[in-house]
Amino acid sequence: MSGSVVVAGLGPGDPMLVTPEVQAALDMATDILGYIPYVGRIAPRPGLSLHPSDNREELTRARHALELARQGRHAVIVSSGDPGVFAMASALFEVLDAESSDTMVNIRILPGITAMLAAAARAGAPLGHDFCAINLSDNLKPWSVVEQRLRMAARGDFAMAFYNPRSKSRPHQFERVLEILREECESQRLITFARAVSTPDETLRTVTLEQATPDMADMRTVVIVGNSQTRQVGRWVYTPRSIAAPVAGP
Ligand code: SAH
Repeated sequence: MSGSVVVAGLGPGDPMLVTPEVQAALDMATDILGYIPYVGRIAPRPGLSLHPSDNREELTRARHALELARQGRHAVIVSSGDPGVFAMASALFEVLDAESSDTMVNIRILPGITAMLAAAARAGAPLGHDFCAINLSDNLKPWSVVEQRLRMAARGDFAMAFYNPRSKSRPHQFERVLEILREECESQRLITFARAVSTPDETLRTVTLEQATPDMADMRTVVIVGNSQTRQVGRWVYTPRSIAAPVAGP
C-alpha cells in the first residue's frame, strides 16, 4: 500500500473552524506530526501515533513525514491556520527539492483558515481592499528585509496583517515597526490587535497608530493595520472596497 503526506491547516483554534476535508484527513491518518501545541489539538485514538516536535524542527519534521510515507504510512503534518502561510507546506517542498531523488510521494496540501482572516472577520472587514501579509520574525530573513517591505507596503497604501509580531527574544523590533508606520502613515490610522482569535483567550482591540504601544502585541496576536481609508462604523472596522481615482496632476 502506498503512503502519503498531507499538510493540513487546523485553523485558528476553534474546532468548528477545522474544515471537513482536514477532519477527514486526520481521521485517516496513521501519524500526526507538528509543533507541540498543534499536535496537542489532536485527540489521541488507537492506531494513531503522535509526533510532537519543537518549532525550529520544521525540516527534520518534513523529512520524517516523507520517510513515514515511504514506509506506507499516512502522515499528516499539522499547522495552525493555513499550512501555506508562514508554515509547514513550504518546509516540506524545500526538503523534497533538496532530496530531488523522489518526487513520487503522494502529497496533498489542505487549506485552513489563516489567522488574519479569522481576525478580520471578528473585527469587521479591515482587509476589504488590497492587502498584504508580513511575517515580522527575522528567524528566516534579515531584519532589513522586514523593514523595507513594511515601508513599501505602507507607501503602497496596502492594509497589512502582521504575523509573529513580537516575541520575548526580540522585544524591540515591534517598537521599530510602530516607528516606521508613524513615519509613513497618518496618526489616526486604525490598528487592530487580535489575540488568540477563536479560542477562549480571545481579545480584540482597535486603536489609532498614535495610541498603539508595543506591549499590545505578543506571539499569539495578529496585527491588522488598515489602509488610509479604513474606518469604524459602530463597533466594526472596515475598509471600503473602492478608492477614489487620483486627482490628475497639472
Ligand atoms: N500558519 C498560521 C501562521 C503561523 S505563524 C496561520 O495561517 O494562521 C504564527 C503566528 O500566527 C502567530 O505569531 C500569530 O501572529 C498568528 N496566529 C496564529 N493563530 C492565531 C490566533 N488564533 N489568533 C491570533 N493570531 C494568531
